This record gives sequence, C-alpha cells and structure tokens, in this order.
Amino acid sequence: MVLHISLDGLRPDAITPETCPFLNQMLRDGLGTRLAQTVMPSVTLPCHTSMFRGVPPTRHGITSNVFTPLARPVPSLVDWAFQHGKRTGMFFNWNELRDLCAPPSVAVVGMNWDNQSLPGDAHIADLAIEAIQTQNLDYVFLYQGFIDTAGHRHGWMSPEYLAAATHADAQVRRAVEAAQAIDPGVVVIWMSDHGGHDRGHGTEMPEDMTIPFCLYGQSISAGELTGVEIMDCASTVSALLGLGAHPDWEGTSRVP
Ligand SMILES: [Zn+2]
Repeated sequence: MVLHISLDGLRPDAITPETCPFLNQMLRDGLGTRLAQTVMPSVTLPCHTSMFRGVPPTRHGITSNVFTPLARPVPSLVDWAFQHGKRTGMFFNWNELRDLCAPPSVAVVGMNWDNQSLPGDAHIADLAIEAIQTQNLDYVFLYQGFIDTAGHRHGWMSPEYLAAATHADAQVRRAVEAAQAIDPGVVVIWMSDHGGHDRGHGTEMPEDMTIPFCLYGQSISAGELTGVEIMDCASTVSALLGLGAHPDWEGTSRVP
C-alpha cells in the first residue's frame, strides 16, 4: 500500500518535535527534505494539480482554485494507477480536490465540506482509516485542510496555526498506524502543497514556496533528498506502486 498525505499550508519550520512529533520523526527516520519547492502560483489547486499530474502550471493551466478542463490532458497519478489495475481511495475535506483525477479512477471517495474545524480534519482521517481497514486499497490519498484555514484566520506560525498542525500530526499518526497494521510494508509519502506568511500565500516568497517532502516505511532508509519539486510526487508514487512514469510527466521519481 502507498499512503499519500497532503497537509495543506504546512510550513517545514512548523515541524518540530514539540509541534509535530510524528512528522518530525518521519523526517528523521525516513527519506526527506524540508527544502522541497512548490509551484507558482503557490495556491492550493494549482499546487495539488502539479502534485498529481506531474507538470507545472505552465503545462496544466490551472492557475487558481477554480478547475477548468485541461486543453491537453495529462493523466493524474490516480488515473495512471487505475489504468494499471490499482485500487485507489481519495479522502479530503476541500472538495475542489475531486478534480485531481477522472471519477472512474477512484474506487472509494470520502469527502466532507469541513475544512473549517479540527473535527473536520479528524472526520476525514476517520473515513480514510475505515477504508484502509476494509477496502483492500493499493493507494490512499489523505488530505488535511484545517492548517491552511487556521493560517488564513490567525496567521502562519500563530499559536492557532501550530495547534492545527499538531492536530493534523495526530491524524497522520493514526492513519499511518492503521495502514501499518494492515500492511507492514506500507510506504508513506507526505508533503504540503505550499507554505504561507502573514495571513496568506500565493507569492514567490520562500515562506510560501518551501515545503516538506518525505518518504517513510520499512523499505525506506533514512536520508536527505535535495532538489525536490512538488511535481516529483506523481512519478514517485508510481514508482512506489511498481509502475513507470507517464511520459508526459516532468517530475522525477525520488524512490531510491
Ligand atoms: Zn493549500
């Protein structure tokens, strides 16, 4: 199983042993970096589209949080996995993310519209965990939306923002432990879509552009990655599923 997690708006410098103990542990024991780069504009849907479709916004054309069909379609990692017989699940509490793949590519979907509270993040983690335990999935995507909401409300790195990060860290730990109980060989790949500063994001500032990116699991040795871009995610997930990369993808697999 591959468990892919996106923590919306999580800055790498918010990941400390005190604030995000489990994420910090995975960065220490896994293969990762705190210096990966997202794409411009550093906005949720453009960044997730690059994460899933392996190309920059100049290629996929999504430059705001409103989806428009791609003029020259690029399959997402979920479409690619489905085309190769993999069983996939998507769990998110920001429903624009439904456009990250074609509907038939997903076996199990969990959505709610609550990225406005801690229980919203916990609920979507619950849905993912139930599917991990019962649905025999090869690939699971889990998104946590409230960190970004807290940043917009109270400021990036504010106490409220850090509390949301701590809560998401606990949800990630629950999901990873559930996946390990089903499949001890599960590989976790997690990242954020962008950072933030003051009460927003979307600029080329390092605070907005710099993201964590980490692989963690029994088969992954500890190490430091360099030069990672968010669009490397598609090729990396495919490699973890034992597949090659789609020829249109521009990112690089980070699997050793
Ligand atoms: Zn975002």
